[in-house]
Amino acid sequence: MKTPLIMTPGPTSVHEDVRRAMSKKITNPDLDMEFYEFYKETSDRLKQLFLTSNDILILNGEGILGLEAACASLIEPGDQVLCLDNGIFGKGFGEFAELYGAEVTYFKSDYRKAISVEELEQFLADRHDFKLALLVHCETPSGITNPVNHICPLLKKYGILTVVDSVSAVGGEELRTDEWQMDLVLAGSQKCLSAPPGLSIVSISGDAWKMIQSRKQPVAGFYCNLSLWSSWYEKKWFPYTQPVSDLYGLRAAVDRILTEGDSITRHKKYAEAVRTSLVDAGLELYAQDGFSNTVTTVLVPDGIRFQELFNAMLTNHNIMIAGAFDYLADKVFRIGHMGENCREETLYLALKALNEVLKKHRVVLEKELHIEFVNLISQM
Ligand SMILES: *Cc1c(COP(=O)(O)O)cnc(C)c1O
Repeated sequence: MKTPLIMTPGPTSVHEDVRRAMSKKITNPDLDMEFYEFYKETSDRLKQLFLTSNDILILNGEGILGLEAACASLIEPGDQVLCLDNGIFGKGFGEFAELYGAEVTYFKSDYRKAISVEELEQFLADRHDFKLALLVHCETPSGITNPVNHICPLLKKYGILTVVDSVSAVGGEELRTDEWQMDLVLAGSQKCLSAPPGLSIVSISGDAWKMIQSRKQPVAGFYCNLSLWSSWYEKKWFPYTQPVSDLYGLRAAVDRILTEGDSITRHKKYAEAVRTSLVDAGLELYAQDGFSNTVTTVLVPDGIRFQELFNAMLTNHNIMIAGAFDYLADKVFRIGHMGENCREETLYLALKALNEVLKKHRVVLEKELHIEFVNLISQM
């Protein structure tokens, strides 16, 4: 099997340093006191990425586990929950809350735009009796980043706890957990952090801990119950056996980002270069504003179907791009420029291949895609 270059918005390419870290000898994580220190140090380094002094837990399941654990641990039946819905993940987050008995109010806004802070402000002035709000930092299917820097402080002004799905943003978009008053921030290992899928990361504020600890009814379930983790370090006790190799990999991935220093600027620069290249060629982006720095979603142009584009990229160029699902299925294609894929070499290869495939299928473009990123970026 010839592994393709995965230019998808997660999972992303995993660097050799990370793969090497994962092949280290394992220990018994429950009995080895050094492993507790390793876990704590890893969590401390994640705090540097999240810009927070809140607790950070690393849970042993793919990103969705974090979303579900947040709902399971915070919500009691009948709770009023606000769901900010401008995309597939936003809406889905509300549905998770419903599974745990919440009465969810959807603040639905244009799926091609970032959430409008002014409209939300007007809505909240009328109604704000919510225990918590669920929102998505980057809507990965549509390639839209929401202004969580304005939204979270606004919600907190009304005493509403903020729960943010930042799975496809952490490491690629600016994130200031404490400054922006984000109570729960959720991330996953396989997006901008560029570790393999398998881990969820959750940062938990003091207010969120208070909400969890003052529940009237116990959390239904064990794996999603965050309260079990409240003093894991003091007690030297994990609720279940830790996936040692996954954690070694995550640590190496986080260390790579911290060593680089400013991964956010890199994501901004290349995202803008990719968008410029596509738009100048006459392709239409799905997003009309709030352009994501980690993924670009493009309408499939006339003259080719999504599946043909996907197959040609994979078969002829060994590059995997993504489509999307739900109402966007077959209408768009997506290029992930997150984590290790957000590099000149990989984006050059992806856009060069895309240009060739579109030409071969006689898709009419205004001009060919720019692929020389060095030139593009130096012109900005
Ligand atoms: C990737 C992602 C998740 C995790 O979901 P999977 O579909 O299982 O990968 C959750 N939220 C967002 C916004 C994501 O991009």
